[in-house]
Amino acid sequence: MDRKKLTIALTGNPNSGKTTIFNNLTGACQHVGNYPGVTVERKEGRLKFKDYEIKVIDLPGTYSLTAYSPDEVVARNVIIEEKPNLVVNIVDGTNLERNLYLTMQLKELDIPMVLAVNMADMAEANGQRIDYPLLAELLGMPVVRTIGTRNEGTDELLTKVIDVTEKGLVRTNKQVNYAVEVEDAISRLKGFLPEAKGNGIQMAAGAESISTSDINYPARWLAIKLLEADSEIIKKVKTMPYGGPLLKEAALCREDIRGKLGEDSELAIVDGRYAYIRGATREAISINKIDRVSLTEKIDCVLLNRVLGIPIFLGTMWLLFQLTFTLGAPIMEWIEAGFGVLGEWVGANLNDGLLKSLVVDGMIGGVGGVIVFMPNILLLFLGIAFLEGTGYMARAAFVMDEVMHKVGLHGKSFVPMLIGFGCTVPAVMATRTLENPKDRLVTMLVTPLMSCGARLPIYTLLIGAFFAPQVAGNILFSLYLIGIILALIMAKVFRTWLLPGESEPFVMELPSYRLPTIKAILLHMWERTWLYLKKAGTIILAASIVMWALFTFPMVDQYGNEFSSSEQQVEQSYAGRIGHAIEPVLSPIGFDWKTGTALMAGLAAKEIVVATMGTLYSIEDEEALEEKETATVKTFAERAREQSGYTPFTAYILMLFCLIYVPCLATIAVIKRETNGWKWPLFTIGYTVLLAWVVCFIVYQGGVLLGFQV
Ligand code: GDP
Ligand code: MG
Repeated sequence: MDRKKLTIALTGNPNSGKTTIFNNLTGACQHVGNYPGVTVERKEGRLKFKDYEIKVIDLPGTYSLTAYSPDEVVARNVIIEEKPNLVVNIVDGTNLERNLYLTMQLKELDIPMVLAVNMADMAEANGQRIDYPLLAELLGMPVVRTIGTRNEGTDELLTKVIDVTEKGLVRTNKQVNYAVEVEDAISRLKGFLPEAKGNGIQMAAGAESISTSDINYPARWLAIKLLEADSEIIKKVKTMPYGGPLLKEAALCREDIRGKLGEDSELAIVDGRYAYIRGATREAISINKIDRVSLTEKIDCVLLNRVLGIPIFLGTMWLLFQLTFTLGAPIMEWIEAGFGVLGEWVGANLNDGLLKSLVVDGMIGGVGGVIVFMPNILLLFLGIAFLEGTGYMARAAFVMDEVMHKVGLHGKSFVPMLIGFGCTVPAVMATRTLENPKDRLVTMLVTPLMSCGARLPIYTLLIGAFFAPQVAGNILFSLYLIGIILALIMAKVFRTWLLPGESEPFVMELPSYRLPTIKAILLHMWERTWLYLKKAGTIILAASIVMWALFTFPMVDQYGNEFSSSEQQVEQSYAGRIGHAIEPVLSPIGFDWKTGTALMAGLAAKEIVVATMGTLYSIEDEEALEEKETATVKTFAERAREQSGYTPFTAYILMLFCLIYVPCLATIAVIKRETNGWKWPLFTIGYTVLLAWVVCFIVYQGGVLLGFQV
């Protein structure tokens, strides 16, 4: 039988249960990719139902369809440009008023839709009763009750989907009616648009839409977007033949509305939508206010407490890090050992020479260095996914909001910074949840100052070599703390001089607490980890090869003779020459050319710094370096003291420098991708190097003045 093809898109706020329902619908038939140009993930799946073969697209979770964040732009472009036959809007039933805001915006797109009121179990436990037929009538679209976690309502949802498809969009007179002044402006703007054509988005006959070759929107929607001063739409309208006069008229309309209503047209529109939602929910929903305070409110009393909130949050984080590192350590050792064995095996099976050196030192060494951090990163992401799933992460952002606002950032900025302790690459990606572009950029710029997992081996080695075990913990903690403080200071600096402007007020939703399913947590964890592996892995591999080449060539001196020692070889290699070249800049902060060379190697990935120093200070006993830490530490300390005259003080400065200067290449690549250009990644390199140098200069020269042993 030939099945009829149908494409549906799932939309909804983050955490409304979209992914859960997507999984219920499509089972294992999924395909994950990226949207072209932006790194927003695209998920698709397929299923068969009755005579239909249905393609399901899981759109990114968004609170609205403005142009504030890439996720929102992607979600709306898919709906407008790919024209799915139907949109399924999933809303969190425990939080209907807030969730329906997106619904109202979708409705303005004039596209057939079905509303799924999810989390019905929790809503009902809270005493909420919904009159579904009435709600459907008030909103002018079919409404289905679903419970994603129990796979309830899935068939009914599909039945409604087919039903709507077969009937087509039934236009009702249910739409948000804005204030008279706004409605007048909408009519005025619609008058400016060319003759309506019916070939817009999958629309019922008679729906108005305008279309030119590259723009194809419902007229009313376009008019509203212009009144909202939507940057993306304004950009597109500019390219239309009648764009100029239309934009001029829109500006006049906005002016006019402000004059008459005393508030911006954007706000008037937001008000209009909420008023409509309040009206609908008041009629269709009744709440049996159960006497007892809901459990969520009780928990929030403690967790969001003005006094206890921050200590509880910090305690939770401390616990998370403890768990991450204590549970991760043994697994790390296994992986390290595994790569050691792999290296040896490959080494034993390849003839000595360039190829062997490339594969063993360059490729296995470099990629192994990244994979070794996998257990820590997996555990950290597991913990964060759990905290996100329970709803605590949203509270953490809320608790931190006050502090973050002092430096001009949004409470939500804290989450990417937190992820930055694991790895900066996914942390930069996590900034996508920030709606304000300036908040997002500043967060992206300071996240590299959070001490990532790759810096840890540098610290461990140097602290072990130069500091007594009793103070080791404090030294380590001080480095993490300095990173956080510098990040906050730089955020303030950037927000004041580089990207001034108001930060977004806190409008984040606080979802009800729930116990996340294991499947959901594992999926989230895996998605992030995979991004880390894929993005970091490929770039690190390439960078390791480049670094290997810089350290390996030239292999003979200018007379064609081989070098007498490996140390000499390194000194004469391109990397060594660069180290010598930058020595004058580094001597004011107490570093010699060898340190310079090692730091340069760290550009590819921080963990390479340690390996390079090992080579430079010619630790003969390389086996020991790989196998027994204590032996390494001793050897390294002796060598380093002997050959470089390092003291605990210089070692500390070196750690400081490693903390601050240039994030690894993978991070730079991700920043470039996320900002769509070279400007900000280059800026990040520039400012971090400068900052590292300035901080180290102050500490070093200050130490010299105070008579520290240097
Ligand atoms: P998304 O962000 O919209 O993709 O949301 P997810 O599908 O990841 O769901 C967020 C959390 O809500 C997960 O922990 C789900 O297990 C949970 N969840 C989803 N649907 C329901 C439901 O109907 N009832 C309850 N109690 N929990 C749900
Ligand atoms: Mg999801």
